[in-house]
Amino acid sequence: MLLTLTTTHRPATDLGHLLVKHPDRVQSFDLPVGTAHVLYPEADEARCTAALLVEVDPLKLGGGRGRRQATTPDSFTLGQYVNDRPYAASSLLSSALAKVFRSALRGESRDRPELAATAIPLEVRVPVLRCRGGADLAVRVFAPLGWTVTATPIPLDEAYPEWGDSRYVDLTLTGTLRLADALNHLYVLLPVLDDAKHYWVAPDEVDKLLRAGAGWLAGHPERGLITRRYLAHRRALAGTALARLAELRLADEPSADDSVEIEQPAEAPRASLAIRRREAVLAALRDSGASRVLDLGCGGGALLTALVADRRFTEVVGTDVSSQALAMAARRLRLDRLPERQRDRVRLWQSALTYRDDRLRGYDAAVLMEVVEHLDPPRLPALEDAVFGHARPGTVVVTTPNVEYNVRYEGLGAGRFRHADHRFEWTRAEFAAWVDRVATAHGYTATLGGIGDEDPEVGTPTQLAVLRSNETGTRKEETTR
Ligand code: SAH
Repeated sequence: MLLTLTTTHRPATDLGHLLVKHPDRVQSFDLPVGTAHVLYPEADEARCTAALLVEVDPLKLGGGRGRRQATTPDSFTLGQYVNDRPYAASSLLSSALAKVFRSALRGESRDRPELAATAIPLEVRVPVLRCRGGADLAVRVFAPLGWTVTATPIPLDEAYPEWGDSRYVDLTLTGTLRLADALNHLYVLLPVLDDAKHYWVAPDEVDKLLRAGAGWLAGHPERGLITRRYLAHRRALAGTALARLAELRLADEPSADDSVEIEQPAEAPRASLAIRRREAVLAALRDSGASRVLDLGCGGGALLTALVADRRFTEVVGTDVSSQALAMAARRLRLDRLPERQRDRVRLWQSALTYRDDRLRGYDAAVLMEVVEHLDPPRLPALEDAVFGHARPGTVVVTTPNVEYNVRYEGLGAGRFRHADHRFEWTRAEFAAWVDRVATAHGYTATLGGIGDEDPEVGTPTQLAVLRSNETGTRKEETTR
């Protein structure tokens, strides 16, 4: 079975860097069911094609990992060994893709990180794809993701057209996408079209699906069909996955309008707390020496515009669970009108802070500005794991309201929070305890501070913490040596 991937992004041979497979070599990889080969039928400056060829060993396929079926004369079925699996693209190709292009699938590239994060012209061809539900279904699943889809049914037998079409299509996808997105689409959707998973679907497949579907599956019009087929029609698993997707979508619905946030004590001068907060966060980032930064839960992009205006920040990523918020941020940044060199420094990704996201690993610093209080307390440990445990930025800057200060706000009834979507607001002692616990658990050293005028009794309106990874120092020393 065969899949080819072509780009015309110049120099096209950079595809080799993104896939971490050299265009001059043929490389082979052992799979549980056979062997995968990666080779480049063409590789020059203008056009480069990588081919993934999977040779299936029908004996290994019939055996199955640890679930060897009896092959006594009675129960022997030839179908186990003689079938379409060696020839037609199927879930086996998807598994091979995940194994052979692991880092590209995560959007990681040591040699070309910028390019890995950039949408490039791509063409994917799968000459023989088993497609249960016909060529239309291939269009329905790929087209909403930005692909132009050509799916041509393959006749059962060219000599006998009256026999009609087979279950196979010749699929071509063209589009301008990040390579990682393209690979994740294929990883999920090839088995969905095939609809005959070759291995046992374990509960961790839900996580795999949501990880691979991050940013595109929750809003996909065919998410129900995709989820059910991907999870091989296991009802309970599909139910869990769909509930988690709904959670992601729901977050899109309430307006992410932070303007209704109560910012000002009635008598305060107009130097708004929002501006002072932004300046305090920028100062902390500059102090940290960061150049590649994440604004996690960026909302409408209040901080992003300031980050983009400062050239020291060579890469600025805004993430939010709400696509409305991201659309607002894109408008505020005037992304469509920025010169290309500026625009290349900025990325906006839909991502939930309560799930690990590999795209967020390896940054110098991350900001959580007025975000933690938007999460239900039982979800906080998931954020702690995703940010401090998995993404592990060198520095994390956190701001959150100081609930003790609320008595100084006129018009804010006792026991009320500053924003309708706040799930909690912390006292200074509660924030300090949380910061201390997270820092200790994940190897960070924290400094606490406040933003806004300090009241002798109740402190500052906003609380600030800067957490520095205990590893950063050593990492820097190692690289300067
Ligand atoms: N940091 C911005 C926005 C703060 S409002 C600012 O200071 O202006 C909080 C933001 O967190 C909202 O945009 C909301 O969509 C986002 N958010 C809430 N829960 C989230 C989650 N689980 N994952 C990612 N973002 C989340």
